[in-house]
Amino acid sequence: MSDCIFCKIVNKEIPATVVYESEEVLVFMDIGPIIKGHVLVIPKKHYDPVTETPDEILAEMHLTAKKIAAAQMNGLGADGVNIMQNNGKASGQEVEHIHIHVIPRFNNDGHHW
Ligand code: 5GP
Ligand code: ZN
Repeated sequence: MSDCIFCKIVNKEIPATVVYESEEVLVFMDIGPIIKGHVLVIPKKHYDPVTETPDEILAEMHLTAKKIAAAQMNGLGADGVNIMQNNGKASGQEVEHIHIHVIPRFNNDGHHW
């Protein structure tokens, strides 16, 4: 998808701070973090929404989110983690390339959904 901002990140046409990468997925820092350490897990291939995304890709995305959550809790010292995935404008989705938000949470960090 030539006009997709996340495809552009995959293709290195725009910069991102990449924290993890495999053959199928890319993890990078969210440009507007809800909490410091907020990252996004995306498939390198363009899919959207979740109902059109192959099971094996979803499985790898979620297993990657689990690894990132472990790093946030064990490395960053997060007390909790939000793992979140929006589909459609009504849900608050802004970028139409499937992505999982992995957000470290700290006791009394002041954020409320
Ligand atoms: P959504 O609302 O679609 O679930 O979340 C999109 C997320 O992508 C937002 O948290 C937003 O800050 C992030 N985002 C949008 N554009 C860019 C970008 O160009 N680079 C990065 N790293 N994150 C982006
Ligand atoms: Zn895309």
